Amino acid sequence: MLPSDMHFIERGWLSSNSLLLSGPDDTVLVDSGYHTHAEQTLALLHHALRGRSLNRLINTHLHSDHCGGNAAVQASWPTVHTSIPPGCAEAVRHWDEEALTYKPTGQSCPRFSFDDVLQPGTQLLAGGRTWDIHAAPGHDPDSVLLFQPDTGVLLSADALWENGFGVVFPEIYGEPGFDDVGHTLDLIERLQPTTIVPGHGRVFADVSGALVRARERLKVFTEQPLKHASHAAKVLIKFHLMAIQGCPIESLLDWTQASGYLTTLHRVHFHAQPLREWAGSLMEALIRSGVLARQDDWVVNV
Ligand SMILES: [Zn+2]
Repeated sequence: MLPSDMHFIERGWLSSNSLLLSGPDDTVLVDSGYHTHAEQTLALLHHALRGRSLNRLINTHLHSDHCGGNAAVQASWPTVHTSIPPGCAEAVRHWDEEALTYKPTGQSCPRFSFDDVLQPGTQLLAGGRTWDIHAAPGHDPDSVLLFQPDTGVLLSADALWENGFGVVFPEIYGEPGFDDVGHTLDLIERLQPTTIVPGHGRVFADVSGALVRARERLKVFTEQPLKHASHAAKVLIKFHLMAIQGCPIESLLDWTQASGYLTTLHRVHFHAQPLREWAGSLMEALIRSGVLARQDDWVVNV
């Protein structure tokens, strides 16, 4: 489905997908996964590069599962040129873990640096091809999409998956985000991509089917924001368990009380119930749906 100069790397959901672009004159990595997978990221990259050096590293957005491997990549290829979306530049320069979401999500991301920004409305020469950079707010206000018109390949990040899209982060901290999700879906439709490399999940070609499913999901969230709030809280808990694999239930409940986004979601939407009780009910729901499991007084990832 992808041209042979585009090497796709997919690993579960903790790490975002990565794409290695190999042109005659340069090699470019898009997104680097979560930091706990950094060693595997480097091994997969060395294998795919077949002796070539990595020239450039770019990120669609700076959630920890998309740029957690940046520091390891920069240490491995010290001359790599790193480009990030412009909205995050100041936060990365000062390593503001609040603005970069690592603190309020309770996630971690080793510090990295950048050389320039991916300005929406401009083009990027990468892997011997020209890519159009588009702003793609919604899931993340600063995310960008990369579209390659000759091949019809779109890197959609977490704006569009085969089944849905990523949690709408602005809605977590009380800013509107659903309209932006809709506008970004409209943009994707206008671009008429033939192949989508999503931020998570397999590469797919049924773009119109994915757009229908995403719009249905967006409609549910827009009409019932509580559903999105509850979904977002479960995603944060599941992500934490994917990262640590398992912990005593009491430790998980302690962690939820220290997570800024979970306490915000609770304060805004679910304050009728005590925080710890609410978090416990989310965990139980995740266990019932089979994405977490209980082992004695521990909760573990499935
Ligand atoms: Zn994301």
